[in-house]
Amino acid sequence: MIMPGYELIGQEELESVTNVFKSGGGVLFRHGFDAMRNNQYAVRGFELEFAERIGGGHALAVSSGTAALRICLAALGVGVNDEVITQSFTFVATVEAIVESGAVPVIAEIDQSLGIDVSDLESKITPRTKAVILVHMLGNPGDAQQVRDFCERKGLFLIEDTAWGCGAKLHGVNLGNFGHMAAFSFDHAKIITTGEGGMVYSNDAALIERARAWHDHGHENNPSVPRWEDTRLSSGFNFRMSELQGAVGRAQLAKLDEILHAQRYQNAVYEDVIAKFAEVSVIPVLSGAEPSRDSFMFRAADAESASRIRAALVKRGRTTKILPEATSWHFAMHWTHIPSLVARHGGPEGLRNSLSKSTKNLESVVSIPIFVEQTESESEILFEALVEALRS
Ligand SMILES: *Cc1c(COP(=O)(O)O)cnc(C)c1O
Repeated sequence: MIMPGYELIGQEELESVTNVFKSGGGVLFRHGFDAMRNNQYAVRGFELEFAERIGGGHALAVSSGTAALRICLAALGVGVNDEVITQSFTFVATVEAIVESGAVPVIAEIDQSLGIDVSDLESKITPRTKAVILVHMLGNPGDAQQVRDFCERKGLFLIEDTAWGCGAKLHGVNLGNFGHMAAFSFDHAKIITTGEGGMVYSNDAALIERARAWHDHGHENNPSVPRWEDTRLSSGFNFRMSELQGAVGRAQLAKLDEILHAQRYQNAVYEDVIAKFAEVSVIPVLSGAEPSRDSFMFRAADAESASRIRAALVKRGRTTKILPEATSWHFAMHWTHIPSLVARHGGPEGLRNSLSKSTKNLESVVSIPIFVEQTESESEILFEALVEALRS
């Protein structure tokens, strides 16, 4: 399936990578080898440019979005004996990061805009709750302001899962600036891509320093000693990004505004199609939200109607994106393979029967991919599919 960042990979990325070899001496490691690299640091450059683009905070490039989430939890000191609340509709990676930290995932319902249901948070809190991970799912901003206020009142950390929210805004502020930390993804299906990769972002320099050390075996990169004698404050892991990925990331970041512009345009074209049918409606966005729009979401009358629409699209050689067909990786109700989630609900059946509000919310939604290089005829195909599914 073709997706935004992937679509625009080309000459600029190739040149950026070539420079790592030509003028950067072929150094593929983010640290050291100073005599060989002619002062070229692709990952460092990517971090600085990304931080500036997202809001002037601090950024740490890492090996994946999943790693970025795990690193945020480590930097915030979240682990064994803690609970972390996140939402039912997300990619499984959000919950995997919580499990890998040693904490227990707790799942909140979603609302009509498919973001976390703020009114459900209160009931999910226990004395062990340490943090909330708010996911801006499908690039649609969740209610970051309200969730932040809630976390402040309760003394909880807020992490934004901005895997899908790169360049999306709420009240004029880029997503990623509402929480204590944020985790972006650059996997091959995300808005911009480095093949595999991610970014930890925060306005708190001390948190980024802890994240920086933890993602690099605890290395503090103390300038007064060589790296092999480096000082450390904690254990860590290796989630470093390579110079090849950093070089691709810089070229992709330069295309972010173009990608967002094209996606938002296509979204508006699709909205015009939906407006012609009383049987379907677009998924509402929060007031003040500027979604990234890498998918177009609308609600059908019921689950059956949603699957008829999908069938009509598939018949025309098109596809849907996650909804309604692929919730098994994106809806917590199905994750009976995660023991701590199952245990919390008293068994697999309990997990499956929980989250009834989310089930109801998701079952009638259709989501279709938006391509950057997309022609007007795509909207005609949606129109024809809707005519067939709803009126024949
Ligand atoms: C893609 C994604 C991730 C994980 O990112 P990777 O780079 O693929 O590891 C985490 N959360 C959400 C919501 C995602 O869509």
